[in-house]
Amino acid sequence: MNDCLFCKIIAGEIPSTKVYEDEYVFAFRDINPQAPVHVLVLPKEHICCADKIDETNSMLVAKCFEAVAKIAKAEGLTNGYRVVNNCGADGGQTVKHLHFHILGGKKLDETMA
Ligand code: 5GP
Ligand code: ZN
Repeated sequence: MNDCLFCKIIAGEIPSTKVYEDEYVFAFRDINPQAPVHVLVLPKEHICCADKIDETNSMLVAKCFEAVAKIAKAEGLTNGYRVVNNCGADGGQTVKHLHFHILGGKKLDETMA
């Protein structure tokens, strides 16, 4: 877990542009934005991926989505946005700490896969 990039960002050991934080959730701007607004929303507790969400930790996912709505409002995404989770190798997950991408600020590509 000490080797997790996003745990280090949450701990402030690696700098990030934070946009939101509460007891359960941390959010910051993606270093390689794919849209005018590209924010990563993650539980502070290390969960590796969506595949490991269960009844013991799903409350943290709910907290992430409460944060998504607040961040979208704060970022002015009144015309909509996309929330993406990549899970595992086929899903294209590169950082093994559960996170949700908020993408917005333009009309997004309709391709999903
Ligand atoms: P994934 O591919 O796992 O769904 O998403 C990982 C995301 O983390 C990518 O969009 C990538 O640009 C972003 N990312 C990787 N390293 C860093 C970093 O050090 N800082 C920030 N802010 N974003 C990062
Ligand atoms: Zn982590």
